[in-house]
Amino acid sequence: MNKLTVFLLLWTLGGVALAARDFNDVEITVEDLGGGIYMLKGAGGNIGVSSGDDGLYIIDDQFAPLTDKIKEALAGISKQQVRFVINTHWHGDHTGGNENFGKAGALILAHDNVYKRLSTDQDRGEGRVTEAAPDAALPAVTFNEQISLRLNGDDMRIYHVARAHTDGDAIVHFNTDNVLHMGDTFFNGGYPYIDRNSGGTIDGYIAALDRGLSLADDNTRIIPGHGDLSHKAQMSAYRDMLKKIRDRIAGLKQAGKSLEEVTKATPTQEFDAEFGQGWIGPERIVEAIYGSLPTGSG
Ligand SMILES: [Zn+2]
Repeated sequence: MNKLTVFLLLWTLGGVALAARDFNDVEITVEDLGGGIYMLKGAGGNIGVSSGDDGLYIIDDQFAPLTDKIKEALAGISKQQVRFVINTHWHGDHTGGNENFGKAGALILAHDNVYKRLSTDQDRGEGRVTEAAPDAALPAVTFNEQISLRLNGDDMRIYHVARAHTDGDAIVHFNTDNVLHMGDTFFNGGYPYIDRNSGGTIDGYIAALDRGLSLADDNTRIIPGHGDLSHKAQMSAYRDMLKKIRDRIAGLKQAGKSLEEVTKATPTQEFDAEFGQGWIGPERIVEAIYGSLPTGSG
């Protein structure tokens, strides 16, 4: 075995270890947002729930080993089975429960590119591959720009936002109940993961936040993909933080600075204490922004 093979093997095993991670201690918490809408937290992406006369539907479903716990939490909200699952994007911490819910009779709904990426092997970069999901986990209904669910007394609309966290992101707006689920186009409290291997870009990410802000008012409850329940002022500050970092890095890149030089210039420093302590540290956000800016952009 050469060095590269050993490296790739270790990387792959690392991925398996992550997949086999122990979820026994995970607790699903339920936050009542009124109007039959709830936010569930556990491990992975935050789940949105709509419950009412027309049935139960959820936005994202975390990891497969958590399905029973999620169902238990949902049973405290409604006696009905899950009728629809909406995926905000294809990542496993948001779609891992699809197969279980799909087999139990839920119809899965997502953007066209979620279907594309879930139905084929995905190169995650640096030798990692996520294998295609089984048929039961795939969205049966897909959309391109937007789609509505007029259920449970709300006119809920799902909007596609282009090339943000991935190339298949959706944000979900409950018009009547004034709740917005941003998926991973909002990581509340941390720098975002911009998945460039899945078509994510910083400019699309900021545009997605702008789209969400345009749908929100001061009373809107905003469910981020990760982190605590939020509101417009907080998401607006988050957007401004990213725009500031983006413009700094774009200026340096335009001046011909290499990624190494830009990283050394610490363009995120003033925000690192608040946003750079989690999964995506300062170096990773700089790299993602630098790499996804078009060359010569200002
Ligand atoms: Zn994600």
